[in-house]
Amino acid sequence: MQADSGTPLVRPVQSQASKRAAFLVALFVSILLGSCSPKAPVSTGIPAGYISAFDITHKYNLTLHADLATGVFRFTGDAEFCVNPGSNRALLNGRSVFFSAPVLLLNGNLMLPDDADAKLDSEISAKTVFVYSEKPTPVPTPTRSRPVNSVPSLPPSAQPSYAGTIVLDPGHGGADPGAIGPKTGITEKALNLAVAIAVRDILVSKGAKVIMTRNADVHISLAGRAQIANSSGADCFVSIHHNSTFDRLVKGYEVLYSDNNPNGETRLADSIVLCKAISSAMDGKWSTYDRGVKSKSLYVTRLTSIPSVLVEVEFLSCSELEPVLASDWFRSRAAESIANGILKYLAAKHQ
Ligand SMILES: [Zn+2]
Repeated sequence: MQADSGTPLVRPVQSQASKRAAFLVALFVSILLGSCSPKAPVSTGIPAGYISAFDITHKYNLTLHADLATGVFRFTGDAEFCVNPGSNRALLNGRSVFFSAPVLLLNGNLMLPDDADAKLDSEISAKTVFVYSEKPTPVPTPTRSRPVNSVPSLPPSAQPSYAGTIVLDPGHGGADPGAIGPKTGITEKALNLAVAIAVRDILVSKGAKVIMTRNADVHISLAGRAQIANSSGADCFVSIHHNSTFDRLVKGYEVLYSDNNPNGETRLADSIVLCKAISSAMDGKWSTYDRGVKSKSLYVTRLTSIPSVLVEVEFLSCSELEPVLASDWFRSRAAESIANGILKYLAAKHQ
């Protein structure tokens, strides 16, 4: 309870070195809690020409570590990126790179120059694409025709007119846990996979074909996930994540799309319709808030060529919900909502 109430984690200390160490500890804790969140401890006050480290971790699925001994901050994931506050030099996958301005540490927030964002983007895009070789789970082929005089197993109204093909993308995996429950240690990667599998099972039961970017606890690069979507011929791509932030009272679901995807206006419009269908299907399923449908430049929704959304199912950092998220009760509600939203979107597109 004390840990939830915002009690300072570190008491005031006297020496400069101790103050720096205490500050880094507090910052490190806030980074751990916010590693999958777009919500920085202070969301305003970002200087012009800078982007917060929290936005960088969310955008590229990176995890941020602070080295208390050296003061170096290290991002890991699809790229390894080390920065040092006060310096414009960094290490990107072992190579020195230079920014137009120094990295800043302001009020506990790590800020990177905009060109750091651009360098990361091009590095990750240029990386050799690793596509997970596991074959998608065999899916029964939907019966499109039936013998004359046969009786359908379900009334016509229970079967969607068009079930389609869906790519489901459980976020994170392998060495990248995503967010971690502060009290339970539950990992976001495990929750994402569990919800995605439950969504898959519902969609398959309705006659849809589902392609999973991962079916196990393995690392798939962001480019690999986008490539699976782009070579799938699927109707849509749905990435599933759980959110996290430093404030343990924050809860709610949100559905994100990217409006800077270069693949056309129709794709954008369809992505927004899909966001709204999923968001409205999630409404009222548990005690929480609708945080809305939002545009955010995320790698997997920006580089896919089919309608693509990212669902932040709920906050793993929320002290009230953290113990609930791994339950069958929650998982089935979350999965039913997402599946129903997808089916509603597909039915409307193909009616
Ligand atoms: Zn995530």
